[in-house]
Amino acid sequence: MNTTQYDYLVVGSGLFGAVFAYKAHQAGFTVLVIDKRFHTGGNVYCENIADINVHTYGAHIFHTNNKEVWDFLNSFVSFNRYTNSPVANYKGRLYNLPFNMNTFYALWGVKTPDEAKEKIEQQRRESGITEPKNLEEQAISLVGKDIYEILIKGYTEKQWGRKCTTLPAFIIKRLPVRFTFDNNYFNDLYQGIPIGGYNKLIDGLLAGIEVKTNTDFFANRAYWENTAEKIIFTGKIDEFYGYRFGKLEYRTVRFETETLTCENYQGNAVVNYTEREIPYTRIIEHKHFEFDKQPQTVISREYPSEWKEGAEPFYPVNDEKNSALYGAYAELACKEKNVIFGGRLAEYRYYDMDKVIERALDKWDNNG
Ligand code: FAD
Ligand code: UDP
Repeated sequence: MNTTQYDYLVVGSGLFGAVFAYKAHQAGFTVLVIDKRFHTGGNVYCENIADINVHTYGAHIFHTNNKEVWDFLNSFVSFNRYTNSPVANYKGRLYNLPFNMNTFYALWGVKTPDEAKEKIEQQRRESGITEPKNLEEQAISLVGKDIYEILIKGYTEKQWGRKCTTLPAFIIKRLPVRFTFDNNYFNDLYQGIPIGGYNKLIDGLLAGIEVKTNTDFFANRAYWENTAEKIIFTGKIDEFYGYRFGKLEYRTVRFETETLTCENYQGNAVVNYTEREIPYTRIIEHKHFEFDKQPQTVISREYPSEWKEGAEPFYPVNDEKNSALYGAYAELACKEKNVIFGGRLAEYRYYDMDKVIERALDKWDNNG
């Protein structure tokens, strides 16, 4: 006899959980979403300070090439025309990101793509790297030694707390290298910030669905396991298995947020501080995501550190050791009949928002 109350229990109301819950609800199933935080939305949640949408868990800029994902989101919210074009501050000098002709001109005075390519090629030859094996080698072979030392090394070592020679090359492959004067940080066709904020998107996805916040799955695991036919788990996979093979490592970020009585503090939403000696990686000025004009402004300095119990596990550390450990947990997860694992924590992947949404839509189509 079926004694469960719901068809689906969704653990975590971040983008993965919210999208999956929406699809299940639309299909007529009964769904309960629980989240241990006091709010829904996971890391895209924003709080309103001085009438500005403040990205509580770090700046979130939506970008994608996937039209299906874009159209899906646009059925809940419209997006503004925000285009991410961060500026890097190294020892008081400013450089445009991602690496493009503006950056090369500021660094070397080169004015044409051929001059820039020649400069990079010369530095690549001098380094003797043919097959890049780690982030340092990948970076030098993509953009040369000068850019590596000025814009990458310090920032990356602060962000990941590890030497660039021990980090996987794919982390840096995320960033475009362009021989045009184009400061758009992303190559994707679609980009922007939801008009009305990310909370509006999450509220749209979860409309009509039962949600309990301040509710930790592990505080009453046996009860929650018996409450639904299937569980969608978007928390930490190692925690789900009681850390039986050991703990996966994460990076966390401490945000130091201040309201300032000036209209415009830094003239850009994102300014990265790439030198090692400055302890934060970047300063976010939230109002610029939405072209706001309030008399005040809110800024957040980001201080990355190693994750410890009690902090937010933001970035999976996909080095060899952790990838192998994740593999052991993933093998157990494959054998589960009634539990679906998804999202950044459960899949231990450095997913952007569009990829998480794509995965949730796929999981619904294939396993729901
Ligand atoms: P999460 O948003 O982490 O949601 C998981 C939810 O599960 C959380 O709400 C958590 O409270 C809940 N939970 C966990 N354990 C339990 C439990 N035991 N019981 C109950 N609830 C539980 N992507 C972009 O595309 N663009 C960006 O600019 C961008 N910037 C980012 C900046 C930072 C600092 C970070 C960390 C990520 C950024 N991302 C960005 C990635 C983006 O945040 C993720 O792709 C997306 O939010 C992941 O959604 P998720 O549902 O997998 O996880
Ligand atoms: N990065 C860097 N210098 C910068 C910005 C980024 O070296 O000024 C590197 C760094 O290793 C970082 C990676 O590029 O981890 C990816 O950067 P992105 O901005 O995509 O990171 P996220 O937004 O996920 O924190």
